[in-house]
Amino acid sequence: MESAREICFFVGFLQEAVPSSRQAVIRDDTQRDFFSALSRARMNSVMRACFSSQISNLKFSICVYLCLSVVTSLFLFAQGDEERYRRQREEMVRTQIAASRFTGAPAVRDARVLAAMRQAPRHRFVPAELVRSAYDDRPLPIGYGQTISQPYIVALMTELAGPKAEHKALEIGTGSGYQAAVLSPLVAEVATIEIVEPLGRAARERLRALGYKNVEVRIGDGYFGWPEKAPFDIIIVTAAANHIPPPLIEQLKPGGRMVIPVGNPFQTQTLMLVTKGDKGPRDVRVRNVLPVAFVPLVGGPQK
Ligand code: SAH
Repeated sequence: MESAREICFFVGFLQEAVPSSRQAVIRDDTQRDFFSALSRARMNSVMRACFSSQISNLKFSICVYLCLSVVTSLFLFAQGDEERYRRQREEMVRTQIAASRFTGAPAVRDARVLAAMRQAPRHRFVPAELVRSAYDDRPLPIGYGQTISQPYIVALMTELAGPKAEHKALEIGTGSGYQAAVLSPLVAEVATIEIVEPLGRAARERLRALGYKNVEVRIGDGYFGWPEKAPFDIIIVTAAANHIPPPLIEQLKPGGRMVIPVGNPFQTQTLMLVTKGDKGPRDVRVRNVLPVAFVPLVGGPQK
């Protein structure tokens, strides 16, 4: 198609060149020779110009064609990847989270939480070399001796917290930012605190790049909560302490819920649901939910 158009263009060029030489008034043989030599010379230069412009046109067309092919292939490749991860999330929710667990742990049933788990791109929160394992049924290392929690535990803690669209949530232990990303579409606002500065900075940048606009990351000791933003409807603590930090109970709204693993580091801890009543700071109920294993909550008051 392209070459046919180029041939037509070339023939058109010749037709324009030839009539102009024919129109010349030819008086005698010398003149005829002169005019035919002239028209041959013109023809040659026209053909040369034409031919070289054809080649550069052709080169240009090939370049454009190759660039477009590369861009299209990259786009389709990325689309294919995203679709593959979406299917992995679907599978993760169906087999690991919404189904009864082989350990006897309860299935997560809250439809909003399940939707948030289907939505959050966990593969963007793990180190590049672990992307293939992003949707496995286990925690993964994220550097600095820390881990991104197992998907089921993230879903369960989110469900236990009972997020509502108008809620203000606090998370202690930002880590990769994944738990904050899961909470983000379920509440109005997420405040999250990380004590390891490089982790906090990386999570802040990642959440910004992924467009989580209602999440704010603070670098500091989460044991003391975030008094300037308190009180909170929800507090999720993703590192284990040997007691429930009193400042966190204080910063919980009456009627608020806190989910926290309590126990000694590197031993089995207990995931607890703490509910605050409306009869003062001591009106607190605690329910033991599940044995769990979290990294330790460091910091807190100096001994
Ligand atoms: N929620 C994270 C995983 C948490 S791992 C995620 O979704 O990826 C626990 C995190 O708690 C670690 O990053 C650890 O550095 C952090 N941490 C431990 N003690 C802390 C403290 N006192 N204040 C804030 N963060 C703390």
